[in-house]
Amino acid sequence: MNAPAIVILGTGALATARRIQALYVERGAHAAAGVATACRVHALQGRVEADVSYSELGAHLRELYARGTPIVALCAAGIVIRCLAPLLSNKGAEPPVLAIAEDGSAVVPLLGGLAGVNLMARDIAAALAVQPAITTSGELRFGTCVLNPPDGYALADLGQGKRFVSDLLAGESTRIEGDAPWLDDAQLPRSDSARLAIRVTPRAWDGREDELVIHPRSVVAAVVSDDAGCADAIVARVRAALSAHGLAMLSLAALLAPSSSMADPALTQAARLLDVPLRFADASAEPGESSAARLLHTALRVPHETLHDDAYPNVALALCSLAIDPATLGRPRGRLTVIGLGPGCAELMVPAARTALNEATDILGYDTYVKMAGPLRADQRVHGTDNREELQRARHAFELASDGRSVVMVSSGDPGVFAMAAAVLEALEASHNDAWAAVELSIVPGVSAALATAAQAGAPLGHDFCMLSLSDNLKPWTIIESRLRHAAQADLVMAFYNPISRARPWQLDKALDIVREYRAPSTQVVLGRDIGRPGGTLRTLTLGELRSADVDMRTMVIVGSSLTRKFACGDNGAQWVYTPRWYE
Ligand code: SAH
Repeated sequence: MNAPAIVILGTGALATARRIQALYVERGAHAAAGVATACRVHALQGRVEADVSYSELGAHLRELYARGTPIVALCAAGIVIRCLAPLLSNKGAEPPVLAIAEDGSAVVPLLGGLAGVNLMARDIAAALAVQPAITTSGELRFGTCVLNPPDGYALADLGQGKRFVSDLLAGESTRIEGDAPWLDDAQLPRSDSARLAIRVTPRAWDGREDELVIHPRSVVAAVVSDDAGCADAIVARVRAALSAHGLAMLSLAALLAPSSSMADPALTQAARLLDVPLRFADASAEPGESSAARLLHTALRVPHETLHDDAYPNVALALCSLAIDPATLGRPRGRLTVIGLGPGCAELMVPAARTALNEATDILGYDTYVKMAGPLRADQRVHGTDNREELQRARHAFELASDGRSVVMVSSGDPGVFAMAAAVLEALEASHNDAWAAVELSIVPGVSAALATAAQAGAPLGHDFCMLSLSDNLKPWTIIESRLRHAAQADLVMAFYNPISRARPWQLDKALDIVREYRAPSTQVVLGRDIGRPGGTLRTLTLGELRSADVDMRTMVIVGSSLTRKFACGDNGAQWVYTPRWYE
């Protein structure tokens, strides 16, 4: 889990905040190798100094929440609830959120029951020597959440689970059948002759109401799809094999396939549909066994029973006595996901990019962007670099991914717009490397700087437009001039990326000279600087007023067409720039 952000409003809370921080700093020191996310105290600007400052509590809490950062807020519970309320109807991943009295006298877990908020509350309360305000009744009574079994186990049916816990709360006892080591310390009312039973079994639940069935993920399905089946057919065969042996779908720990079929998209899709990891191994050459069974023998290092079915010759199941950690089976298919972070703030990053970051083992990109992608977990390896050699970085990403790692390459904005996606594809095409070709490559789009800037200004890209990079690092200046001339002549709205830099001081003036040959001085111009980032500014002016000194490398320049217009609206001076949809 990420280290929590400790959020305070005034000096009165600083001492308590530092005590809680000490608890997590100590933890971080014991965390796995790599860059640990630091536990920081976030303080309201102008009121109190700490590690990170913020200017508005509501916006800051929502930003942290959207990034999945656990929040420890040293203020009234009501304030925290009101700030986060707009985000709560969206039932996505929910980080733990706690409200703590600033003098440390009360610890109130608010959100994130399934993300471990009660555990955090207990830890923090112990450090502050108070009782946590745990309100989850099952957890209160039994000291554990019976309905939230650990990794490697799955509850058969949540509805049944809730009924079962309310029966326990009403005073019934339970037997435990099967191996449930995590319940050893729970204060469950146990009795061998109880009517109710917690049953830990890979067998499918038969619907009996007096049982709480928990499935250990103890079954592995090996699939050899030499008939190049489609994903649905693979899923159907695995389901049929499980049901033929009376095994529950939720007892499936992983799908195993031969390394030679690593790049088969049907397998990837089938694993996704079955919601289990996909692992690969090479079958041993034992005679007399099906290749699926041989795969299981090579990959599984623990005792297991192999289950076949003549009706499904390309599927074999291995049933182990305990839950299996899929990470110990063969190797995974490596992944490389090229993502765009959007312009900077968490709300403008698409959820698929957040998911890729959460699942990443390795993260690559410019240091600035990697920082923007955070917070990252202590177990995630960061290969941050100031290295401007993009192809080199792309190759590094493929090396890591073809080793079975889950790699995320970060770009700002959209990864396909003057960013890493094209470099990654260029490296792949030039490589002729089978291991790189087997990597699961995907590109997740993002909100590009031109789109984020345009949205703040209104709709300057509302009609035909083009995006041009003014950098002549990778293309001759003559090409840029000729494109500018054509675009200006065609009356396209133009979005300029990389408009100027210390190494390219004269190019923007030259570009504007060309544009001015075709566009009137009254042409609308929008300048967006650091849009979506702290201190971002938006300016609208005319082409006649625009000077290259108004622009730096963190600026997006949008030059309107002959029809782009600006108007003021209402009494508060709001101004909008837009390009009409029609043309006259
Ligand atoms: N892939 C990025 C663009 C990278 S090129 C995207 O799709 O946005 C870098 C240029 O993008 C900068 O020189 C600047 O012109 C523009 N840019 C990137 N982020 C910006 C932001 N937050 N605000 C304004 N311009 C930005």
